[in-house]
Amino acid sequence: MTTIPKDQTITYQLQYRKCGRCKNCLNGPGHGPYWYAYWREGARLRSGYAGKVHPALRNDTDAPSPSTSPCESEVHQDAVHRNFTREQVRDIRARLARGERARTIAQRYKVTDSVVSNIKRGKTYREVQA
Ligand SMILES: [Zn+2]
Repeated sequence: MTTIPKDQTITYQLQYRKCGRCKNCLNGPGHGPYWYAYWREGARLRSGYAGKVHPALRNDTDAPSPSTSPCESEVHQDAVHRNFTREQVRDIRARLARGERARTIAQRYKVTDSVVSNIKRGKTYREVQA
């Protein structure tokens, strides 16, 4: 299935599609109507199935939106980045010092591994002194 990009301007069209094999297609309008997304990929016009309900009308946070930035996966990871208290940062550092794995600590604090390894590498929370 084609993935509808999140960093493109998407045009939606309500259409019927024909598989060409069933009665519905031979005697009727085909399947649908369904929403199809259209966007440009260079010079090519691409399309992808977007569902029975217009994405803008769905209560679906995954609905493609032209305003979403292309590096959403990074943003999403950052969203998991919590603001730790000084005590928590010290606790994380103490656990790292004791040889606890970043993954184990990340699970304890419900954050991604990178949040913990950033603390480990001194990339974040540098202002928190031991
Ligand atoms: Zn059909």
